[in-house]
Amino acid sequence: MKAVVYQEPYRVAVNDVESPRIQHPSDVIVRVTSTAICGSDLHMYEGRTAAEPGIVFGHENMGVVEEVGEGVVSLAKGDRVVMPFNVACGFCKNCLAGNTGFCLTVNPGFAGGAYGYVSMGPYTGGQAEYLRVPHADFNCLKLPAGNEHETDFVLLADIFPTGYHGCELAQVSPGESVAVYGAGPVGLMAAYSALLRGASQVFCVDRIPERLAKAEEMGVIPIDFSQGDPVQMIKDRTNGEGTDKGVDAVGYQAQTGDATKEEPAVVLNSLIETVRPTGRLGVPGLYVPADPGGPSEEAKKGMLLVSIGRMFEKGQVVGTGQCNVKRYNRQLRDMIIAGRAKPSFVVSHELSLDDAPDAYSKFDQRIEGYTKVVLHP
Ligand code: NAD
Ligand code: ZN
Repeated sequence: MKAVVYQEPYRVAVNDVESPRIQHPSDVIVRVTSTAICGSDLHMYEGRTAAEPGIVFGHENMGVVEEVGEGVVSLAKGDRVVMPFNVACGFCKNCLAGNTGFCLTVNPGFAGGAYGYVSMGPYTGGQAEYLRVPHADFNCLKLPAGNEHETDFVLLADIFPTGYHGCELAQVSPGESVAVYGAGPVGLMAAYSALLRGASQVFCVDRIPERLAKAEEMGVIPIDFSQGDPVQMIKDRTNGEGTDKGVDAVGYQAQTGDATKEEPAVVLNSLIETVRPTGRLGVPGLYVPADPGGPSEEAKKGMLLVSIGRMFEKGQVVGTGQCNVKRYNRQLRDMIIAGRAKPSFVVSHELSLDDAPDAYSKFDQRIEGYTKVVLHP
């Protein structure tokens, strides 16, 4: 089958690889109909991680069940399904508590499992024609048959729940003001989720015009950090108090306003200043140990100069980590079906698998309006 295979930093290729097969009675094989490229894939694409050439990318997958292991009870050939990016067992302590991003069975000692992701277990990615789904009764979310809402549903694998998770970590509540740093796919979904949760005033900080325009289209106040200090710009609009809540949807690739220079701690420290005393911060942005690249040894290990002193002075609470997709995706699916949510506005390009090398390059450079790419194998 065809699949998107990592070659070397800044290069993927569409190659022929072996098709997956059932390895365990609880597996299914899914014929992939949609699979998205994620900002998290860029950490591997840019060579910041230990990802080896040959790995098949893709953790945002949906499709149709093609083959069913003999132990699977709830799925049949032909079912349309979307898979949370987390591979999880459903029966360990963390899964039972809803923390499926931290499954203790599939990848002990690390942050759970994922498809096509370095250090997150041996699960091949879904930017391919077929995908093996382990513990399939747990790791598939059934969708209505047909092809309606295809582009909304594929976002249930990651960025819609992840944006929602950012708001959950910050406990965004009705009537509150929220600052979201990053208007990438995750940041836009966090801002959108803040609106769904009844926030009264939402800011989204970035400097890429197309992304800020998408934020503005949904009624969010765009803040262009290349035009000045985003903390001050938000304080000026919140009586000098700052917002009630904040979300970091940037991660360790954070850049400063004046150059393309990376400054991994800038967003966390800005968020601490932006959010009022006793406010909460949600950090879905990724700060993980990474191998080559990165600005300093400390930054590579995710050890940043973040001001805990200022957090103490302001009595703030912070939450972070992988999204527990399973915890939210049934509810978010039903909001899509009911017409109460339409996250696909974030998708800028729908392309074929063969377009992946070019799409990765443009999404990585954030040029030509490449905000979110969905591939259709
Ligand atoms: P992305 O790289 O497309 O978006 C990041 C955005 O941040 C870009 O638009 C960039 O211009 C902007 N940015 C850079 N520096 C900034 C600054 N100083 N202030 C404000 N904005 C700035 O990526 P994405 O797909 O939106 O993902 C965002 C982050 O979320 C990544 O770190 C990704 O790995 C992480 N992520 C986490 C989870 C999870 O489960 N926690 C899931 C998916 C993605
Ligand atoms: Zn993702």
